[in-house]
Amino acid sequence: SKSAVIIGSGVAGLASAIRLQLLGFDVSVFEKNSFPGGKLSDFTLGDYHFDRGPSLFTQPENVLELFKLAGRNPKDYIQIEKLNEANRYFFEDGTIVHGYIDTQKFDEELVSKLGERKGNAVQYLSEAANLYQHVGLIFLDYPLQRLKTWFNKRILKALAVVKGKHLINTVDQVNKKSFASPKTQQIFNRFATYNGSNPYVAPAMLTMIPHLEHNEGAFYPKGGMISITNALFKLANELGVQFYFNEEVEEIVKAKDKVSAVQTDQRTITADVVVSNMDVYFTYQKLFKDNNKAFEISKQERSTSAIIFYWGIKKSFPQLDLHSIFFSENYQQEFDELFVKKVLPSDPTVYINITSKKDVTHAPSNGENWFVMINAPASQIINWEEAVLAAKINVLKKLTRMLNTDIAPLIEEEHIWHPGGIERDTASFLGSLYGSSSNDRMAAFFRHANESKDYKNLFFAGGTVHPGGGIPLCLKSARLVELLVKEQFAG
Ligand code: FAD
Repeated sequence: SKSAVIIGSGVAGLASAIRLQLLGFDVSVFEKNSFPGGKLSDFTLGDYHFDRGPSLFTQPENVLELFKLAGRNPKDYIQIEKLNEANRYFFEDGTIVHGYIDTQKFDEELVSKLGERKGNAVQYLSEAANLYQHVGLIFLDYPLQRLKTWFNKRILKALAVVKGKHLINTVDQVNKKSFASPKTQQIFNRFATYNGSNPYVAPAMLTMIPHLEHNEGAFYPKGGMISITNALFKLANELGVQFYFNEEVEEIVKAKDKVSAVQTDQRTITADVVVSNMDVYFTYQKLFKDNNKAFEISKQERSTSAIIFYWGIKKSFPQLDLHSIFFSENYQQEFDELFVKKVLPSDPTVYINITSKKDVTHAPSNGENWFVMINAPASQIINWEEAVLAAKINVLKKLTRMLNTDIAPLIEEEHIWHPGGIERDTASFLGSLYGSSSNDRMAAFFRHANESKDYKNLFFAGGTVHPGGGIPLCLKSARLVELLVKEQFAG
């Protein structure tokens, strides 16, 4: 049978491996780390367990689909719970808003806490659903090259469904028109950060993002986000996928209009199909030594990176939820700093994820595992070791003030991840969490396709290629790779 090599075991690499193995390929995965999952991995510090990267889980059907394809019962691999509350929002003036998943309940919460006009959120989320179903899905479920040829037909038809305001305005402009309360506007602006974009610049098409959280729902996999990686890794192994850890791919070997093999730091392996799950920038720069192509890609603005403080906290905070957000007072300034000045925000919005709220074993009793994240610019210039120290002081001051508790003395374990470390550990260009940003109206078309233009048996899956970053889209990219491979190897 034919062979396929996957470079990288990120979530899209795992999903691609499963899909190609099910198509009948002998699949080998090469991973430079000692563990699978890439950004979707975990670690422990003393008695505290931490998910390393992603914390918010939407559209679990993209995961479940893989088990169904393999004829398995997903419940034998992963238990997924739907949340009642997606986020808990904290404002400097003491206001706390519960981001209920249920649209009606969320609408009522915004009315009672923020004096929002009744029905505004319901109306907004129904428009978001409309956008997602008519426009979003076309971008997400089809290969990019098809989209380009269909531009005049399907896309224009889809856009006809969309209201003019979503075509010409930014996310912030639509949110200002849609909501009376500046705090509601801030809550809805934040969704642009789900793919690392700037709500004050990004096109209003991105207002479809809250549809995923509020209409479809936010979820928690029992055991934490690592359970997604563990479940996919287990399935891949059962299906016969071969994994090679601690083995870095150094080169993709070309043969005219095809690629013939990959060379790792330990061997050369021939392959009928190669899928790169590596950041597409580094695929060209490192594996093809093609600096021109890499430079082309680097011209697209990167999405944001992050600084994460993983803190073992020896106290319980009942007022916090699984996902809690401490907003900055001047949100526009925060994005100016991130994208224009490319510096760390002076008053960062702080996000805390605490999985011990769901899995008590993730922290000692009376303790909590805090994953504390602020947005950071994707920048080469900043000295991250120094910047992190200033950021820590800032974050501690903000949380101490907003939680009315001195936080520093409660930290008994600490690990810090910054953009430089994210780039080093996951080979993500400039530490971007989601590849290129969606700040440009045409960004969706500029992302790299799932297939190579130059080599007909080379494919791309992952957060830096079409349709974009985040777990759901990464999983969709693997589905598109399967589709393209199937087309080419049909019969
Ligand atoms: P990656 O996870 O980037 O993995 C690529 C793999 O390839 C790595 O394991 C790497 O070691 C390996 N590799 C690279 N080069 C080579 C080589 N030469 N040879 C062999 N192996 C190689 N998404 C969400 O949906 N929700 C969230 O809440 C969320 N929050 C996030 C928070 C943080 C801090 C981060 C970092 C990301 C977050 N994301 C979130 C984004 C999400 O993690 C990514 O979009 C997704 O995990 C990327 O998966 P991927 O398949 O592209 O591969």
